[in-house]
Amino acid sequence: MTRRGLLIILSSPSGAGKSTLARHLRAWDPTIRFSVSATTRPPRPGETDGRDYHFVTEVEFKRMVRDGEMLEHAHVFGNFYGSPRGPVQDAIDAGCDVLFDIDWQGAQQIANSALSPHVLSVFVLPPSIGELRRRLVSRGQDAAEVIAKRMQRSWDEISHWGGYDYVLVNDDLDATAARLETIVTAERLRRSQQPGLLAHVRTLQEEFEETA
Ligand code: ADP
Ligand code: 5GP
Repeated sequence: MTRRGLLIILSSPSGAGKSTLARHLRAWDPTIRFSVSATTRPPRPGETDGRDYHFVTEVEFKRMVRDGEMLEHAHVFGNFYGSPRGPVQDAIDAGCDVLFDIDWQGAQQIANSALSPHVLSVFVLPPSIGELRRRLVSRGQDAAEVIAKRMQRSWDEISHWGGYDYVLVNDDLDATAARLETIVTAERLRRSQQPGLLAHVRTLQEEFEETA
């Protein structure tokens, strides 16, 4: 039976582990498409243009917003970030789930859009602030002042946890990834995600009436 694609939104303070969880989820089900955001921030070591982000200039970013090419966009840590609309629409039309690694501002914009019935939003909390700092440092990809700025902003992000459908405390990685898989499995069975149900129940009714 056909199903509608979910818009799976993962948010967290920087360093809590949402990119890692996103990778786990896509390894668990490779049909889940990742919404590659556009950003004006420079690439980190190991990041690939077109895979991790579309790295664009501020002029190009603003043009995309002006031309209505962004599903949502926000200013985070002094840089612009946004989710291009086209690939998301293509995925939904094909019945595929789309995974977003975006902040609370973007999550709110998508939750308030026409796509809201198909949104699954998950907030990832760190087990402690000390562990959040350790993870940011151990990732080893940001300069000390960038880490300090991200730590300062972490409470701003955490303060929006209450607007999400689900909240995961990312203590043990494998356990958290398994919880996320459980949530996605259940959400795929939401009535609104199964457009074929009505036809199926009608068939059941016809069969019922023929045999009754
Ligand atoms: P975010 O995308 O939220 O900024 P990352 O996924 O990049 O965070 O994770 C930050 C760092 O923490 C990475 O080095 C990652 O390997 C590590 N990490 C993620 N989840 C866990 C976990 N449950 N336990 C220990 N380390 C983790
Ligand atoms: P980073 O620079 O660590 O990759 O991301 C910084 C923050 O920007 C993270 O909270 C991340 O989720 C958020 N972010 C990444 N892409 C987007 C996007 O397209 N839209 C919004 N609103 N936030 C994004």
